[in-house]
Amino acid sequence: MTSTTIKLSLDEIFNLAKAALINNGANEENADAVATTVTNAERDGSISHGLFRIPGYIKALQSKKVDGSAVPEIKEVTPIIFRCDAKNGFAPLAHQYGIEKLIKAAQKFGMAGLAIQRCHHFAALWPEVERISEHGLVGLTSVSYTPAVAPSGGTTALFGTNPMAFSWPRPGKNPIVFDMATASMAKGEIQIAARDGHPVPLGTGLSPSGELTTDASEIDKGVLLPFGGHKGSVIALMIELLSGPLVGETFSYESKERDNGDGGPVQGGQFILALSPEICSGKDTSDQIEQFIKRYNEIDGVRLPGARRHKNREDTGPRQVNAELINTITRLRDES
Ligand code: NDP
Repeated sequence: MTSTTIKLSLDEIFNLAKAALINNGANEENADAVATTVTNAERDGSISHGLFRIPGYIKALQSKKVDGSAVPEIKEVTPIIFRCDAKNGFAPLAHQYGIEKLIKAAQKFGMAGLAIQRCHHFAALWPEVERISEHGLVGLTSVSYTPAVAPSGGTTALFGTNPMAFSWPRPGKNPIVFDMATASMAKGEIQIAARDGHPVPLGTGLSPSGELTTDASEIDKGVLLPFGGHKGSVIALMIELLSGPLVGETFSYESKERDNGDGGPVQGGQFILALSPEICSGKDTSDQIEQFIKRYNEIDGVRLPGARRHKNREDTGPRQVNAELINTITRLRDES
């Protein structure tokens, strides 16, 4: 089955997303922050975290699980540790409030951490780390979610799809960025493959009866597996700890237990770290980095992580969006 698409400009994507959020209870500031995140995801070709997420964001507003008027509160716990109470709001506004403080502290002291609590994250993670690297800093972040991934060797979900993102600054150039789920495939990608009837590679997940399958809709009902066997599994475990107890928040299973099941993003935590390579190393390492990247790129078949998105970003033209999705969001924008 192939899906019909409609062309929308980036401005149309932003306006549609923002108006739909406002029509369902978000205030101007929150709707703007979420619509910007969604539009940037469509721009970069991160379509599983673009408009596709708007119906879920809106379910969370409609059920009142998320406060669409939340004003995040940032506390300076020590000169290099900030705690953000997102006040049951969506993550993008918490990032707008918290990341600038993190950047200033890391530029001054060499490193800084931001612990975000009571936040609803439903997006890709690269925006947070890229923003940090725009200021000459290394960024690292992770979030957990609800159980969808079985630890290596098991058939019972305990880990979220638990993404982490890392970014290294390159003055005047796009940073080196990776942003990946520790599940073999992000849940959004599975849902899109299920919707479009596309098979997924064997090893992506298990059916409800615990069998390996290539059928995305079966995996959507069953469990995902971590990437890379036990190695991905231990990284997913680390992310449970960093995004939960380290920041004073819940493990994935606890996030699910307190969720109302409306299909929107659950409440949880996020860990963000910023490091200054200049302060850590005591020198300017830019030339060394560029030499390394030159060698890297000289290897046949190799590309830098983030390069696909950065290339997509150069195209300022319209994007192809699933027609059924546009209809759904348009209804959500217009219904009273
Ligand atoms: P992918 O497997 O598509 O990509 C992972 C990373 O590898 C990307 O940085 C990508 O760069 C890079 N990459 C891909 N192919 C190559 C290659 N051939 N050489 C070098 N680098 C490469 O991502 P996932 O499916 O794991 O995750 C998708 C998104 O889902 C992420 O943005 C993640 O944050 C998000 N997510 C969010 C969750 C949440 O709760 N908020 C939960 C789970 C996932 P590039 O982008 O340039 O292709």
